[in-house]
Amino acid sequence: MDYKVDHIGIAVNHLKTSIPLYERLLGASCYKTEQVPSEAVDTAFFLQNGAKIELLESLDPNGPIAKFIAKKGEGLHHIAFEVPDIFAEMERLKKEGFALLNEAPKMGADNKLVCFVHPKDAGGVLIELCQTKK
Ligand code: ZN
Repeated sequence: MDYKVDHIGIAVNHLKTSIPLYERLLGASCYKTEQVPSEAVDTAFFLQNGAKIELLESLDPNGPIAKFIAKKGEGLHHIAFEVPDIFAEMERLKKEGFALLNEAPKMGADNKLVCFVHPKDAGGVLIELCQTKK
């Protein structure tokens, strides 16, 4: 396997304050925002030499990002790897004994199919697999 890091997800309370913060930090503009209903989030993206930073703000007080922030505060939420065939990769990981958080890929940001690996099986880090929808 030779996964490329597609993006790093960061949970934030408010995009309104975090977008300008990251614009100052990276010296680059947010190039797009997108609402992702399947995760109940608003997202904002920055591009850094091929790898993306995805800021995530919850739209729902009971959504996964709101729960994450309630427990751990703002911060690093997940690392996403681009895979060529998400279905094959999910099968491979299941056979390897990893718990997947969704049985079938779901629609994520950026026109991508996504699936998450449980952090308990990945050293405490939430891992996202993503594949551009063809
Ligand atoms: Zn992501």
